[in-house]
Amino acid sequence: MPRIQLTGLAVALIAAALSTTAQGQTAAPAPAAPPPYATTKVDGTDNVYIFRYGGHQSMFIVTDKGVIATDPISLRRPAAKAYIEEIQKITKAPIRYVIYSHSHFDHIAGGKPFKDLGATFVAHKNAKARIAELKPADVVMPDEVVDKKKVIKLGNTTLELLYVGRNHSDSTLVMRLPKEKIIFTVDWIPLQSVQFREMADTYLPDIEDGLKTVIAMDWERLIPGHPGPGGRQIGTKDDAKNQLAYLQDLSAAVKKALDEGKNYADAEKEIKLPKYESWNNYGPFLPMNIERYYDFHNRGI
Ligand SMILES: [Zn+2]
Repeated sequence: MPRIQLTGLAVALIAAALSTTAQGQTAAPAPAAPPPYATTKVDGTDNVYIFRYGGHQSMFIVTDKGVIATDPISLRRPAAKAYIEEIQKITKAPIRYVIYSHSHFDHIAGGKPFKDLGATFVAHKNAKARIAELKPADVVMPDEVVDKKKVIKLGNTTLELLYVGRNHSDSTLVMRLPKEKIIFTVDWIPLQSVQFREMADTYLPDIEDGLKTVIAMDWERLIPGHPGPGGRQIGTKDDAKNQLAYLQDLSAAVKKALDEGKNYADAEKEIKLPKYESWNNYGPFLPMNIERYYDFHNRGI
């Protein structure tokens, strides 16, 4: 009798638990995923926008003489079509320029729909050389190149295209809007994130020098190529200072491990930088960032 009652109670409890789970799922569905793409006007500006598609984003500027767009962000996906439709919801003025942030395909592929509309493509000269060398199928060749500096004036907008040396690539531009005090620069100053994977194509210690140069420039807001934690799309100078501090702390920790005779595996296992553990990708990418600095300090590469 007790056994039967117990069994009955157990069944009831299990049924209740299952029912609660089912009800819980019905009552509180997982938060909706963000839409695949979205366009945001940058607060406090008349004409500066961010187009985000998936986890990539680009800046564009609308003037009465036409539009200055940046990275098509269309590698193996139709982002450029959506990008153009979003621009044309705001203005029917022609898209005059597409400016590449740097040579990496995940940011610059898929610009043909812009080219078909007559846009002039601009990139750093090293980006053009890289594209000419690799001949990626879906990357439009730049029409114009930047060496140290180029200024684009369109309508009431002035946009500076600045080269501050090698960092995450040897072709990264800093695009600065002097009136709005905004910069758009991609992949080397992520918001509250460690560097991507093993920092492929990144030059050491040049990236640290470049950060010092950018921090000394006159701007207040930074638009990066990917949103940060919580979907934050715009950073401040503190984000650049924090990224420099992260790289300096990382470099010093790896140098110390080497001086103590540690090998790759021990350095990657033992180095912790708790100040940055809340940053994006700290867990998966910190060991790879350590490896990159290990090679630099150990072999000068
Ligand atoms: Zn990149």
